[in-house]
Amino acid sequence: MKVGFVNIFGKPNAGKSTLLNAIMGEKMAIVSSKVQTTRHRIKAFLNKEDEYQVIFSDTPGIIDPKYKLHERMMGAVKSALEDADLALLMVDVRDNLEEVDEVFSALKLKVPCIVVLNKTDLAKGNQVKEASAFFSSKPYCTKIISISALNINDIERLLKIILDLIPEGAPFYSQEDLSDLPTKFFVSELIREKIYQLFGEEIPYHTAVLVNSYKEQPSIVKIQADIVVNRETQKAIIIGEKGKLIKEIGTLARKDIEAFIGTKVYLELFVKVKPKWRDNELKLKEFGYQ
Ligand code: GDP
Ligand code: MG
Repeated sequence: MKVGFVNIFGKPNAGKSTLLNAIMGEKMAIVSSKVQTTRHRIKAFLNKEDEYQVIFSDTPGIIDPKYKLHERMMGAVKSALEDADLALLMVDVRDNLEEVDEVFSALKLKVPCIVVLNKTDLAKGNQVKEASAFFSSKPYCTKIISISALNINDIERLLKIILDLIPEGAPFYSQEDLSDLPTKFFVSELIREKIYQLFGEEIPYHTAVLVNSYKEQPSIVKIQADIVVNRETQKAIIIGEKGKLIKEIGTLARKDIEAFIGTKVYLELFVKVKPKWRDNELKLKEFGYQ
């Protein structure tokens, strides 16, 4: 069997989470047009019985840390550097190539790397050709491919190359599992995603989500979660006039959670103010940013 850890790195917004979801055919990582949406290392297992188990890791985009939260996010990147058998270095073809190269060189990867030029559907003129020429000569580039993460044929082409480059071995995880993260984690992420969708620039960056209870009953799962913000004013914004917005978050999140776990869900949301949670060790730990 082909078995390997394939870890995805790149700058914020390159399309790392979109790629992971496309490969898995399942929403494992939340996606938004805003940078810094992904805060954890998210592992997802792609299994084909007796043929392969690929353990993919999506990571937060590489940034300079400003808060302890950011340090935790870059810690997730570091941990993914350590166990990779193969790295996918993702690039938005429209990005500044020199800057992207600096980030990739700084990773000092010692494993084979596929440079994945993404968003070819948005590229103009010679952008793809130029990016391809630019990265092919870099020492870390084992292989280069240009894709649109939105195109299933491209995803299949990439998967073939990945399988060629990973080692043989015995599976690490049960072949029935999709991830080693608990369902509660995915539930909190799906709620967080709705906040990225519904609110402007600032609010999402001040927000964390904590699932307090998850109770499986015969035909329904009952979930209670807190949306945590820094200030009272943010709480009022999230609740909205007559509770309109919190209700919308709840409705959208419930639909996605139902699709993810395959049962009916009752979702109860509260908004709580925890000043400066992004710089508070204990709070970060409580919210799962280890
Ligand atoms: P990440 O920060 O690297 O995880 O990036 P995301 O996966 O969250 O994607 C950032 C944005 O780019 C989202 O709005 C995606 O829908 C969009 N996106 C990702 N890949 C592609 C692509 O190949 N083509 C287009 N048009 N949009 C993409
Ligand atoms: Mg992401």
